[in-house]
Amino acid sequence: MHPFSFTKAPSTRAALEAGRRGGRYIAGGTTLVDLMRETVERPETLVDISGLPLDEVTVTERGGLRIGALVTMSEAAAHRKVRTLYPVVSQALELSASAQLRNMATIGGNIMQRTRCTYFRDVTADCNKREPGSGCAAREGVNRSHAILGTSEDCVATHPSDVAVAFAALEARVHLLGPGGERTVPFADFLLRPGGTPQREQALTRGELITSVEIPAYPRPLKSGYLKVRDRQSYEFALTSAAVALHIRGGVIREALVAAGGVGTVPWKLPAVERALIGERPSERLWAQAASPAADGAQPLEHNRFKVELLKRTVERQLRIVGDSK
Ligand SMILES: Cc1cc2nc3c(=O)[nH]c(=O)nc-3n(C[C@H](O)[C@H](O)[C@H](O)COP(=O)(O)OP(=O)(O)OC[C@H]3O[C@@H](n4cnc5c(N)ncnc54)[C@H](O)[C@@H]3O)c2cc1C
Repeated sequence: MHPFSFTKAPSTRAALEAGRRGGRYIAGGTTLVDLMRETVERPETLVDISGLPLDEVTVTERGGLRIGALVTMSEAAAHRKVRTLYPVVSQALELSASAQLRNMATIGGNIMQRTRCTYFRDVTADCNKREPGSGCAAREGVNRSHAILGTSEDCVATHPSDVAVAFAALEARVHLLGPGGERTVPFADFLLRPGGTPQREQALTRGELITSVEIPAYPRPLKSGYLKVRDRQSYEFALTSAAVALHIRGGVIREALVAAGGVGTVPWKLPAVERALIGERPSERLWAQAASPAADGAQPLEHNRFKVELLKRTVERQLRIVGDSK
């Protein structure tokens, strides 16, 4: 590990000032410290933000929810409003990591987490994300867990977060505070596709702090849920996943919000699937038909072709689970 200095921010203003000077925020520390141990990350200054007042879940004026960046994954998953209004968020969190990690890890840290690509985490391997211009060892290497959507010549790494898939489906917004003031970014624009600059992963400017993630209000009832397919049943990242939310009134689907995880370089929203559902009546035929474009545009690699079919089946199954639930 490289030497670094550590300071605990006594206030948001102090945190922003330290961030402006190049300090790196640390919240639960469950992933940043690992990356520092592996020397993938070498920040010179860590700014501990865990004492800042960003740890509440509040109902917005319009009836949506605002989840503070420092709310832990466990607290968010267990929160009564999160559980009743957006079960897809609770389920995505509960299927993430382990209970111990969820007790430490925060919502802000979760959406900021970096890829689990083994070549990114191995400092002896070529990785454009870690070392721009060095190449991508995953393209010709063992790429079973890698992305099939949103990839570029330079990077094929997946975004590993589960709750980010639920946020993408629900079209959440990320509230930021920086030296220049406050701003809000749609979740769809917050995590960046790799293109030719895979080292740029989020739409954050220097020193910006995530303050909360806001989920908009939707017509009620909104049935929702998260399905995660992985090699083992716990403590494992997704091979594929699907976040689905449906508003069904008078036997007709009026609102459909669908995104996939484990397959994209960012959480992958599925507008073609959503369009195929809206205005239709739930039926066995509809679930299969609507899920069929889920993998459109996929560019599989040597070892992850199976994800194309698995993705369609994951989405179909989760549409059925949510659509047929009481
Ligand atoms: C063994 C293991 C298994 C895991 N499995 C899963 C899984 O199945 N699904 C899943 O989704 N995740 C999984 N994770 C990842 C885990 O969820 C993350 O480690 C955690 O959410 C990160 O939160 P943190 O608060 O600890 O972040 P930290 O480690 O403190 O920070 C992570 C990054 O976020 C930045 N950051 C933190 N807060 C802010 C903020 N408010 N504003 C701006 N930047 C900020 C930090 O600078 C840093 O770059 C796993 C992790 C481990 C170690």
